[in-house]
Amino acid sequence: MPAKILDGKALALSLREGIAREVSVLAQNTGVKPGLAAILVGDDPASAVYVRNKKIACEKAGLYPEEHLLPTSTSQETLLALIHQLNADSKIHGILVQLPLPSHIESKAVLQAVSPEKDADGFHPVNVGRLVEGDPVFVPCTPKGVIHMIDSTGLDISGKRAVVIGRSNIVGKPVGMLLLHRHATVTICHSRTKDLPSIVREADIVIAAIGKPFFVTANMVKQGAVVIDVGINRLDNGKLAGDVDFEHVKEHAGWLTPVPGGVGPMTIAMLLQNTLESAKRFAKQ
Ligand code: NDP
Repeated sequence: MPAKILDGKALALSLREGIAREVSVLAQNTGVKPGLAAILVGDDPASAVYVRNKKIACEKAGLYPEEHLLPTSTSQETLLALIHQLNADSKIHGILVQLPLPSHIESKAVLQAVSPEKDADGFHPVNVGRLVEGDPVFVPCTPKGVIHMIDSTGLDISGKRAVVIGRSNIVGKPVGMLLLHRHATVTICHSRTKDLPSIVREADIVIAAIGKPFFVTANMVKQGAVVIDVGINRLDNGKLAGDVDFEHVKEHAGWLTPVPGGVGPMTIAMLLQNTLESAKRFAKQ
């Protein structure tokens, strides 16, 4: 039987409707409107699209969006000064710095300058530590979206074999940690992994976060597995493709996410949710 397709667009839409309702209740009860500041340095077209989509999603859900579009020549000092200003701004409850930054700016210093209490992407070391301890405040958006998608299948993650392909700080490692906290038995694979296909074949849950189109083939996937494709790759013909060979894997998997329309929309929904949760914490103070 072919895989059931996990519609990230529909799932994200229903989450965003719930967020919009909560935003309105929060504003009525406390006068606080969740504010998200997005910073984009440079003119990378893909990053510009992401930032614009995030702004539109904020507006639709009733959040207050602030966009800071800076030229490529922006100095690290200027960028840090802006972040300090946003850290102190009571209208702002979430700050995101769109990556990648131009090469003359040290990403680590910039991400560490964002207040851990407004770190909507969950990349600050304090939030990474809280996540590892199993007591997270901000969970990185894409990994949080991945877990929501698995939960939407009704599968009980506890005790399952999960294989994450990719070990980046923004996707692979935090996804692995979240699955571990949900009591999966987790293996994280990377470019030095030996005999990767045989490891992936054991998985009840496969997370592909590699950045290589069609990397996960049908013969790597166990019958009935839940396969979540995080990858976004631009093909020579201009189309987008994930890291999973969708057409063939769908004959083996139990559940499968498409690209586009899978994890991508969930990432934005989780960003709104992180900002809402942050605003609620500020409102309590
Ligand atoms: P990175 O480039 O930071 O990490 C890629 C990972 O894949 C690395 O750990 C690397 O291993 C591993 N890898 C590369 N080649 C192989 C191989 N041949 N065999 C096994 N492992 C391999 O990417 P990101 O984690 O940032 O992103 C991954 C993908 O997800 C990209 O396509 C990106 O565009 C997409 N993405 C999508 C998002 C969404 O919202 N849907 C959000 C973020 C990312 P090693 O560490 O050994 O080099």
